[in-house]
Amino acid sequence: MIPKVRRFKRRRMIPLEVRANVRVSPSFSRLTLGGATLAGYSSPGRDHTVRLFFPRTRQAGLWLPSLRNDAWMAETLLQPVSRRPWVRNYTVREHRPDKQELDIEFALHGDQGPASAWAARARPGDPAGIFDEGYSYLPPDGADRQLLVADESALPAVLAILSAAPAALTGNVFLEVPRTADIRPGITCPAGVEVKWLPRDGAGTIPGELALEAVRNTPDLGAPSYAWVAGEAKLATGVRRHLVSERRVEKKDIAFIGYWRHGRSSPG
Ligand SMILES: Cc1cc2nc3c(=O)[nH]c(=O)nc-3n(C[C@H](O)[C@H](O)[C@H](O)COP(=O)(O)OP(=O)(O)OC[C@H]3O[C@@H](n4cnc5c(N)ncnc54)[C@H](O)[C@@H]3O)c2cc1C
Repeated sequence: MIPKVRRFKRRRMIPLEVRANVRVSPSFSRLTLGGATLAGYSSPGRDHTVRLFFPRTRQAGLWLPSLRNDAWMAETLLQPVSRRPWVRNYTVREHRPDKQELDIEFALHGDQGPASAWAARARPGDPAGIFDEGYSYLPPDGADRQLLVADESALPAVLAILSAAPAALTGNVFLEVPRTADIRPGITCPAGVEVKWLPRDGAGTIPGELALEAVRNTPDLGAPSYAWVAGEAKLATGVRRHLVSERRVEKKDIAFIGYWRHGRSSPG
């Protein structure tokens, strides 16, 4: 599944440190990362994705690759495990250039994931690093009716997209979260966009299944001119298949990104 991604032309490895770690709701931690190294940094908003580097347990500091092109991955993998950091994809939820800091919101899913475990315990002063990737929310001009679908891993991206959306935007948004207490009241969103929150609340479903069912069972989606879907891989592919075969949405008008795979660790 290779999405259309707009990549940044100038990229650099940016060492940062944790400034704050706030438990936003039972399943989400918002980490603020900052440093003078963010001077001159800019974010396009949307689903701005970075590679996030963080140390393994028992590593004293954080090693970052020196390369600024795609060879950073090979450079990282060649390091001994004692030096090699963990690396995962995350979304810049908000960038505050005046304070030289940015927020990343982590969907916490227990200690079996290194990123989830790190985010649950990170404290001010802990080292982290980022490397810009790009963004995939690329609605064509005039796409004034849209469909956005996400599980908790892509909630930060959808909230960033909605907070910058034009007032005239209309459409449907489906947001699956682990628990009712994870619903964010009063999100910034155009008045013509209908947001449906889908808490699992302990139902034994794999993340994404509720959202996929909700999209399938919504009688009228109002012919979206653009759709953006992200989350567990089956959610992304399932919604795309449904839109193409049942709703006659053109493939070119659908961005679908598998953020993670149930039962499989991210590489890195
Ligand atoms: C472009 C992009 C942007 C992303 N932005 C964000 C973001 O802003 N916030 C965010 O929380 N995630 C985001 N993700 C998803 C995140 O990268 C993955 O969830 C990642 O696998 C988490 O790493 P980990 O070390 O915690 O778990 P891993 O080591 O990768 O996986 C360990 C186990 O946990 C399971 N797992 C992984 N993620 C989840 C999950 N979310 N819920 C339940 N089980 C899971 C895996 O299936 C595996 O069994 C993004 C992914 C992509 C590709």
